[in-house]
Amino acid sequence: MEIKKVVVIGSGTMGSGIAAHLCNANIPVTLLDLKTEISEQARDKIYKSKPPLLLDKSKINNIKVGNIIDDFNQVSEADWIVEAVVERIDIKHNIYEKIFKDRKKGAIVSSNTSSIPIKVLSQNLTEEEKKDFCITHFFNPVRYMGLLEIVKSENNNLEKINSLKNFCEIELGKGAIICNDTPGFLGNRVGVYAMQIAMTEAFKMKLSIEEADAIFGRPMGIPKTGIFGLYDLIGIDLMSDVLKSFIKELPETDKFHAVAKEIPLVKNLIETGYTGRKGKGGFYRINKTDGKKVMEALNLESSKYFPAKKINIKSEKVDLKKLINRGDKYGDYAWSVISKIIKYASSLVPGITKEFNDIDEAMRLGFNWSKGPFEMLEDIGVKNFFDKIDEYKGNYFLENLVKTKNEKFYGQRQKYTKIETLGKVKKTATNIDGNNSAQIYRFNDYNIVEFTTKANALDYDSMDALKKATDKPLIIINESMQFSAGVNLTYTMEFAEKNDFKSIEKFIKYFQETCKHLKYSKYPVISAPSGLTLGGGFEVMCQSNFVASHTNIVVGLVETIVGLIPAGGGCKEMLARWLDTEEARNDPHYASLKVFDIIGYGRTATSPIEAEPMKYLKPEDKKIMNRNSLLEVSKKILLDNKNFKAPKELKFNLPGKTVIEEMDKILGKLYNDKVILDHGVVVAKELAHVLSGGNTTIDKTISEDDLYKLELDSFMRLIEMKNTQDRIKHTLSTGKPLVN
Ligand code: NAD
Repeated sequence: MEIKKVVVIGSGTMGSGIAAHLCNANIPVTLLDLKTEISEQARDKIYKSKPPLLLDKSKINNIKVGNIIDDFNQVSEADWIVEAVVERIDIKHNIYEKIFKDRKKGAIVSSNTSSIPIKVLSQNLTEEEKKDFCITHFFNPVRYMGLLEIVKSENNNLEKINSLKNFCEIELGKGAIICNDTPGFLGNRVGVYAMQIAMTEAFKMKLSIEEADAIFGRPMGIPKTGIFGLYDLIGIDLMSDVLKSFIKELPETDKFHAVAKEIPLVKNLIETGYTGRKGKGGFYRINKTDGKKVMEALNLESSKYFPAKKINIKSEKVDLKKLINRGDKYGDYAWSVISKIIKYASSLVPGITKEFNDIDEAMRLGFNWSKGPFEMLEDIGVKNFFDKIDEYKGNYFLENLVKTKNEKFYGQRQKYTKIETLGKVKKTATNIDGNNSAQIYRFNDYNIVEFTTKANALDYDSMDALKKATDKPLIIINESMQFSAGVNLTYTMEFAEKNDFKSIEKFIKYFQETCKHLKYSKYPVISAPSGLTLGGGFEVMCQSNFVASHTNIVVGLVETIVGLIPAGGGCKEMLARWLDTEEARNDPHYASLKVFDIIGYGRTATSPIEAEPMKYLKPEDKKIMNRNSLLEVSKKILLDNKNFKAPKELKFNLPGKTVIEEMDKILGKLYNDKVILDHGVVVAKELAHVLSGGNTTIDKTISEDDLYKLELDSFMRLIEMKNTQDRIKHTLSTGKPLVN
């Protein structure tokens, strides 16, 4: 079965997200709603969405729109019809009746329902029709969430389901997990239970919402929105509907009921319009006092708002064993929450899936957890877990595990896919070296470096690992969300605060030396970025010999935003790319001016398609929809380059003084128009200095080392300035740039 054309019915949040993503995969798609104006508005929203749902905004008109009366004939041409209308069974039944009357014979029909069982959805269908009907449960936002649950019934033609799964994996890049027809499938059943446990335990143990979010967040390998922050993000009213649906669907014996009861405080929030970020606020709200915006948090006892407190639980890395044994209320809360999640998730095996590993992967892909409940159990240790747990009667999984006490019970990862993923390979590879910031794995005849810091920020240790790993062909790739958000600024500022600029200089030199080494070492180096690939992260990527990039990438040189300039070879590489153009051959100023604009504004691209015109990515770099495939594609590059020879060092012909004069004019205008202010001019002048090849008239070509030196000197002059340090500090504490 080939899917060449798709119709999506219902152009709300999910329908428009699905249509946009089909457009990303270059599949012709028509989006239908009650009225054409509604689907037109949806298309408009897709265009303006942030973060963008489209890889390439110029393709917006590839999404055709229409209404279900005049344009329903589109259905007869589609190979797949996705229903994503409101969660009302009568409406859905009506639509199926029409679809099955008009569809092409054998076309797949699926629903995006989150809570209606397939049995109920398909109750009016004939046996023949049931063969082609299933649930395809996408997560919001569709482009960015990896999970797609495909729910099948016993009537399905399995071959067809598998070919749909294949299509969704390869073309749409989803982690497609086939599930049984059970309430909430895998992701929401465990994910929503986990949210409820985290919330109800916080109430019970009298933790403030800031405290609960500080634990049920990064220290547990869970996104930093925590639990109350996540409630606000999803919508407190929507969560209440989700819980009602679970209560209706699940048998009374299910432990879910105990945590899904209505909480008076939550009810009151909904009734007073505090439905979360989309409403007046929720557990958190932004309050304006004296013209200043203040983040406030709800006190769970008094139901009053107070300025939100920053809770520092001093846990840089996910270390569950340490976390649950802290011996304070935070440790007790973490244990209570984690142990209950493990108990619940394991009680669902084999009822909702026979592969417990599928639950873990659903939590990674659908909730962005770094580890699912069973991996958490593995991390805590089977013996430790059973030493601490109270009772688990009737839980077959745990009753079996306690008999074997097998610490290595886990086995293979990512069983849902045939792709040879990093997750699978790491389990069998040898962990040959590592430090606080990165791990080196040896697999067959190549090495893998995986960064392991927060947002994979880079420091001396990260560079050390990269350098050590070049004794074999090297693939730089991560399982966590970001490739790298750049150099670790906290680490840099620790030196600056002690006036230890020598150490900063040493680090930058080592960074440059490592990047140069990656580029010119004997064996090929491949970067496989996804997510944030900024600043130093981009410099590592662009000085690798090959790139295999995920389509969800945010890439760019953003140093000027904190008052710095790229100094790990970023200026140099961008110059090299722009010098290698027809325009630059005709105009000696062209490359320097182009790079001045791109780096000066700290421009970023949110997809490979946006990245190419800026030359952050090259046409020959591989662009891949499925993140799981990054390793396979990188391996293929290695295979195709068995006779790899390191490139020759570059020489640069730069215009020197004359282009600086031109850049000064640009700066003068920007300053007069107040687009940039005093420190902005200082930073831009340093950038101009580097990109011109130095201040003097150049009559000789300069080397890569000369450019590294120019970058370093300018960087050092900037980092020593109080103005730059204030900018960095501000960005580190608020996450936002300082504008002055
Ligand atoms: P939504 O309310 O944003 O959009 C629903 C759309 O359906 C609206 O544009 C509405 O005009 C349209 N519609 C209603 N009746 C119609 C009809 N007879 N014919 C054509 N269009 C009709 O809803 P949503 O959040 O996009 O949810 C859609 C489906 O996806 C639901 O089944 C929901 O349970 C499921 N779902 C939602 C999410 C989520 O996060 N929002 C996640 C996964 C699944």
